[in-house]
Amino acid sequence: MTHAALLATLAAGLATGAGVAWLGLRRRARRGGARGDDLFRTLFEAAPECVKLQSREGIVERMNPAGLALLEAGRPGRIVGRSVYGVIAPGHHAAYRALTEAVFRGEPGTMEFELLTFRGRRRWLETHAAPLRAAPGGPVTGLLAFTRDITERKWMTRRLEEQRNHLRTIIESEPECVKLHDRQGVILTINPAGRALLDAASAEQVVGRTVYDFLVPEYHEAYRALTRRVFAGERATLAFEVIGLGGRRRWLETHGTPLRDGEGKISALLAITRDIDERKRTEAKLRQQQAELARVCRLSTLSELASGLAHELSQPLCAVSSYAESAAALAGADDELRHLLERVVAQSGRAAAIVGRLRDFVRKHTPRPAAIHPGIIADNVLHFTAAELRHHGVALHSSITPGLPPVRADRVQIEQVLVNLITNAIQALARAPAGGRRITLEAVLEDQSTVAFQVSDNGCGIGPEHRARLFTPFFTTRSGGLGLGLSISRTIVEDHGGRIACTVAGGETRFRFTLPVAGA
Ligand code: ADP
Repeated sequence: MTHAALLATLAAGLATGAGVAWLGLRRRARRGGARGDDLFRTLFEAAPECVKLQSREGIVERMNPAGLALLEAGRPGRIVGRSVYGVIAPGHHAAYRALTEAVFRGEPGTMEFELLTFRGRRRWLETHAAPLRAAPGGPVTGLLAFTRDITERKWMTRRLEEQRNHLRTIIESEPECVKLHDRQGVILTINPAGRALLDAASAEQVVGRTVYDFLVPEYHEAYRALTRRVFAGERATLAFEVIGLGGRRRWLETHGTPLRDGEGKISALLAITRDIDERKRTEAKLRQQQAELARVCRLSTLSELASGLAHELSQPLCAVSSYAESAAALAGADDELRHLLERVVAQSGRAAAIVGRLRDFVRKHTPRPAAIHPGIIADNVLHFTAAELRHHGVALHSSITPGLPPVRADRVQIEQVLVNLITNAIQALARAPAGGRRITLEAVLEDQSTVAFQVSDNGCGIGPEHRARLFTPFFTTRSGGLGLGLSISRTIVEDHGGRIACTVAGGETRFRFTLPVAGA
């Protein structure tokens, strides 16, 4: 029998009714003669842990060298024959007394306690105590204890607990989402920041569910691939969208790292996840702005093209017109021919006017504000739009408050705004019953320093979902629309120091903009 085996027998015996096993060993040792005694003595003397025998009152009757060393007693006399309570830390006396009482009732037991060595050092011990009987079934005559030093284990446990607490505090207060999930995506733990990203009030709402319960389905496959890579030992990153418990959709970015157990096996995926919603939104906005810029660039190319074309066409049209005029003069008595040539003159004049308007429209106009009477602006606009109004069967009623002061404005630009508003109104009236299509153009004094222009129609109106975007470049609901009219109008009005807004009420759509009174 090896030392270790003997000690194991002793320990097992102590844990189960040990006194009997101890006596058994002694008896066997005695029966075995000197060799058995040697064996027993060797066992007692050489046991690496403390073996002691004590009375009900706590008087130590025997203690082996390992025990004496544990107590730093130096010689047996300092503890043998004395009370064990002399070394047990006072806080543990009651529990030790209870254990002793139990053992003397025949019940073995185990406890952890602190003691003070003879050199004043504190140590944590773990003791297995068992009743010692003179004969099996006989009265308990002593307490046999097998005690080991667990100071280091205690210290390690405390350190471990401390480290675990530190880690927990760090994870709990980490502003980014930290979570662990298994190979199937089942969430094992998640910190408060992570719960907030999923709109969860408590961990219970998330732990035990899978990440796929929150991921938008189109990212499931990519997330599975990330999980496979991490469980194969790699680190991986993925951006995806989730829908939180509150139904909010969010962009997140996860950095996945393998989490290994004590044996180095990957036990979970550690995911550090951040909210990239704002970034994604900004990126999308940037892309939209770039697209808009590209369209504006294309439009300015178009403008260049149009102005080039206008320039090239105006000369030949002029020539056609003057040749036709000369030919008409030569037509003499041929009235029919002269009439036809006059129509050529009129039509080429019209073509030249269209080309001229086109050139005016696309010309990069430098605003030239001047004092101008609102009535003049209104008259010009009525003149420009008369044909269009007639063509669409729309009645325009103009109401300009008499005696309005002049406004400070670039006439051409403000006329462009009003023509645009009236054209929009005409289009909005396309489906209104013929005879009932009305537009009102008004100019009123808003206050001493401001004049307001209004264009109202009783057309199709504007749905609430569209109202916020009316002035956004390229917003249009018309198949052939460019969606630039209102955005250009707003820029022009604001450049003049005014405001433009739209209201829809009582079957009437009204666009209203303000201009400063000249000299105000
Ligand atoms: P476009 O006329 O090319 O569509 P606009 O910027 O002038 O561009 O107008 C943008 C959108 O605003 C139109 O497509 C239309 O949906 C809406 N809108 C503008 N004016 C009116 C109006 N008077 N009544 C109804 N909808 C209007």
